[in-house]
Amino acid sequence: MKRKNNIEQVMSILEKKFPISKTTLNKMRKNPNAFKILISCLLSLRTQDKNTEIASGRLFAVADTPKEILALPMRKLEKLIFSSGHYRKKARTLKHVSKVLLERFEGKVPKTREELMSIKGIGPKTANIVLAFAFGKKVLPIDTHCHRIPNRLGWVKTKTPEKTEEELNKILPKKYWGEFNSIFVQFGKTICQPISPLCSTCPINQYCPRIGVVKSR
Ligand code: SF4
Repeated sequence: MKRKNNIEQVMSILEKKFPISKTTLNKMRKNPNAFKILISCLLSLRTQDKNTEIASGRLFAVADTPKEILALPMRKLEKLIFSSGHYRKKARTLKHVSKVLLERFEGKVPKTREELMSIKGIGPKTANIVLAFAFGKKVLPIDTHCHRIPNRLGWVKTKTPEKTEEELNKILPKKYWGEFNSIFVQFGKTICQPISPLCSTCPINQYCPRIGVVKSR
């Protein structure tokens, strides 16, 4: 099967199975506040969505602007975001990002990838989440799931998420860009897991050559 058909088939199955999600970040799309999206994205790194939701909710009840986060005592900030894990490092990042936004961007979240990534603590995935979710830009946020799965499917043959983004930019039809991250994150967490994916019950197994999969269930 040609890759283009394969992509269409796979995306149409997965978008039904994982409708635009109820994740914390996706919920924020309806009423976008760029700063809150940026902070939630930083809190979501290396944790589950439910932990991000708790930490974001607690923090935003007390502070939801760069100025307010900067004014919080470090210990209090750590306590508020404790449930997101790696809370000490994340608290330092939140302080730093808030400080830079105030010093260089008049307290506003910048709208370009270059400016976002010029702030220490903001990587390509976070920058693209902000651009896509807060500013509605057509970019693909690529995390570990969005990198691993297209490689298993044979859509791309890449070693880094940055390269995957470059390749997907060329081959993924634009109509899927808005939901791609949400679908693949949910799919990667539940079925196409990093170690031993659930291939026997996978809804797209007939379209997948399982490239690089050593062990599956
Ligand atoms: S068949 Fe296996 S490797 Fe392929 S997408 Fe499904 S779970 Fe992932």
